[in-house]
Amino acid sequence: MRKKVIAGNWKMHKTRQEAKSFIESVRDIDTNEQTEAIICAPFVYLQSLVEQTEGTNIKVAAQTMHFEKEGAFTGEVSPVMLSDIGVTHVVIGHSERREYFNETDETVNKKALAAFKHGLIPIVCVGESLEQREANETLTHIANQVKVALSNLSDEQIKKTIIAYEPIWAIGTGKTASSEDANEVCTHIREVIRQLTSEKIASQVTIQYGGSVKPANIEELLKMSDIDGALVGGASLEADSFKQLVEVGNNAS
Ligand code: PGA
Repeated sequence: MRKKVIAGNWKMHKTRQEAKSFIESVRDIDTNEQTEAIICAPFVYLQSLVEQTEGTNIKVAAQTMHFEKEGAFTGEVSPVMLSDIGVTHVVIGHSERREYFNETDETVNKKALAAFKHGLIPIVCVGESLEQREANETLTHIANQVKVALSNLSDEQIKKTIIAYEPIWAIGTGKTASSEDANEVCTHIREVIRQLTSEKIASQVTIQYGGSVKPANIEELLKMSDIDGALVGGASLEADSFKQLVEVGNNAS
């Protein structure tokens, strides 16, 4: 059985004190063996969050990174730095990075390779725009994003990769994809992975849904055959709401 992975993506939110109080409220989160809770926080808080979550079931992720291990890249943070401070996961290719910061399928692939090279698990985001959905291009577009993102990764690495399917039109809009529509795309992603690797590998990959997930709709989404968790923005900012999301994950496993 695949794990349910509930990841809270804080984006560019919270002061140091707010970040600290959040962790104080969720540190006792009880995940069972089949559930994982991850907080994706801004760079400046990562180190203290790693320290604060020590001994808990909560993992800490970065929201992006550079693909080089070091160099003259002013303002950037490398995978080596992230693993050095105890970060375990990194979000790659979020649609906001693609839209505002020139992230491309190629840089997503470079980052996925670099993440594994330096001991991080990538959470690779893919998703279609409303125009693409209306033009019936969703499945082709997503298949292409997944193929490029996973190029040159070994089967073992693909098995450990978390894919987050996040339709762009559902992010921060309050419009969630119906669980059937979300599952259709997640099933397609698993099929693409099966073609790249094998049935055995594809059946073990964690595929999350993201886009206006909240305590009120997560249960229905997690019931679907190919949805193994959620990447949650807005509803992950409040400790109580994040706890509820993880609890539903526990019960769904
Ligand atoms: P949202 O964001 O839950 O606020 O829609 C999801 C995301 O961008 O990861």
